[in-house]
Amino acid sequence: MDILNFDVLDLSAETLKGIEEMGFEETTPIQAISIPAILQGRDIIGQAQTGTGKTAAFGIPLLEKIDLRKRSVQAIVLCPTRELAIQVAEEINTLGKFHQGLSVLPVYGGQPIERQFKALRQGVHIIIGTPGRIMDHMSRKTLKLDQLAFAVLDEADEMLDMGFREDIEHILGTTPVKRQTILFSATMSPVIMRLAEKYLNDPMIAKVSPKVLTVHGTEQIFFEVHRGNRLEALCRVVDYYNPKLSIVFSNTKRGVDQIVRHLQARGYLADGLHGDLNQSQRDRVMAGFRSGNTEILVATDVAARGIDVEGIEAVFNYDVPNDLEYYVHRIGRTGRAGKTGRAFTFVSGKEMYKLRDIQRFTKSKISQQRVPSIGDVEQARSDKFLGLVKETIAAGGLEKQLRLVEEFIDREEESSSLELSAALLKMLMGPGETSPGTEHIKDFDDSGTQTGMVRLAINTGQADDIAIKDVVGAIAGETGLPGRLIGKVEVGKHSSFVEVPQEYANNVIQVMDGNQIRGKRITVKQAGSEQGLTPRKRKPSRNVNLEKSRPGRVKRSRKSG
Ligand code: ADP
Ligand code: MG
Repeated sequence: MDILNFDVLDLSAETLKGIEEMGFEETTPIQAISIPAILQGRDIIGQAQTGTGKTAAFGIPLLEKIDLRKRSVQAIVLCPTRELAIQVAEEINTLGKFHQGLSVLPVYGGQPIERQFKALRQGVHIIIGTPGRIMDHMSRKTLKLDQLAFAVLDEADEMLDMGFREDIEHILGTTPVKRQTILFSATMSPVIMRLAEKYLNDPMIAKVSPKVLTVHGTEQIFFEVHRGNRLEALCRVVDYYNPKLSIVFSNTKRGVDQIVRHLQARGYLADGLHGDLNQSQRDRVMAGFRSGNTEILVATDVAARGIDVEGIEAVFNYDVPNDLEYYVHRIGRTGRAGKTGRAFTFVSGKEMYKLRDIQRFTKSKISQQRVPSIGDVEQARSDKFLGLVKETIAAGGLEKQLRLVEEFIDREEESSSLELSAALLKMLMGPGETSPGTEHIKDFDDSGTQTGMVRLAINTGQADDIAIKDVVGAIAGETGLPGRLIGKVEVGKHSSFVEVPQEYANNVIQVMDGNQIRGKRITVKQAGSEQGLTPRKRKPSRNVNLEKSRPGRVKRSRKSG
């Protein structure tokens, strides 16, 4: 068993619709092993690398097992961090979207405990939280686990690394023994095995270890780009390398549709392929790609299976695949027939770990590059164009054109042959923009902040009852930019200023401009360097590139959030 169609798993129509909502086409290997076992009622120890879909591996069967008529806590999922608790809750909520009345509650420290009391009183089916906060609720008797049927230890290795062993043991020790216990971890250790021995009942071991695979003939490159900037970055890289035919891979059907819409709107010859298309639609898309009428094919792994088209110069991994073998299959589509192709991968956050695993198991090197700037793209275009000019001169046969130039220069005494050449270039290449659609990745001006940060102005402040935490909360909540990456925040009477890392600035403006903070509609723009509550010295103006900054290293200038 390797990968399955979700249809064969005997899942409810509601759950299948939730899976459709997530855009998943088929299971990952760990899901193919774990879902049937959990549905059968077995305790399991699941081990697979980061990013292989372990959340849905337990989330899907949990949804099938919860009795929605009972308003009691039937499952707890223990996670190492609040971020993971929130992510897992979001994924289970989306997967469970069509289970009417389902209630999933993330609980973690740092969130007002009173709000959690209220939610708990109203009845919750699945609690997802950090061990500390769950213990806290247990000892306050605000969380009753007497009806508990499932306990999940998610990312067990990380929880143990963080010193949660005693808390976990306490929780498992005081919940009904007649429960199903599920443990997932990226790695295994004797400590985890001991824990499993003590609290799991005859567990099945579900383990997926990647095979060592080889790749050759493909130059592998990765770009570290925040999700919100990924579509723009893709356009830049396409413009820069200008591949004749390329495939963009997305992990989900939704992703395919979104990328195609975006590329088409920007004038690229792109079309999409995924499992929802019928045979004649597929044939039409493939015919377009074979003939070169479509230059960029956007596809899921399933849909791209069996595609055999010559001359694919580049493969883009819009997402890092959930399965190592997919990576190898994907990049194997380029660089055939003795030619080297290029494989580009976009990564952010956790995907860096997947990339590290891929390098390890394919024993290959994926080198990091900066996303080309607008200037780089222009340079590449003019180099290419002037290269063609050189070839044309070398090929000769320009007698007729030379005569025309001579006549023109004689007649128009004001113009030199240099100016004539420049005018022709401008007419042929345009005034010096890049191809449509990428110009709104702004190269931000200096706004008097520390290097790597951009200062944004927001038209709201104390007069609207806005405090620093509201600004930070709204930006972090709406854009997903972690609060710790947000720099200095100043709130004035009617306006506020916030510093964000350059590479996130576009995304923050796009998402927040026209959005609301505490019910007040706001505008967000880049602040001028002389604007602000505390005037700044204007530094010599400099153009900065989006991707040069490393926001992780930006120091925080604000005391606390
Ligand atoms: P892990 O817990 O193994 O590190 P996650 O459960 O966080 O991995 O999954 C990583 C990403 O893969 C998530 O974005 C998730 O939505 C996605 N994913 C999970 N299962 C599938 C699937 N069957 N097809 C496509 N994407 C999937
Ligand atoms: Mg996980």
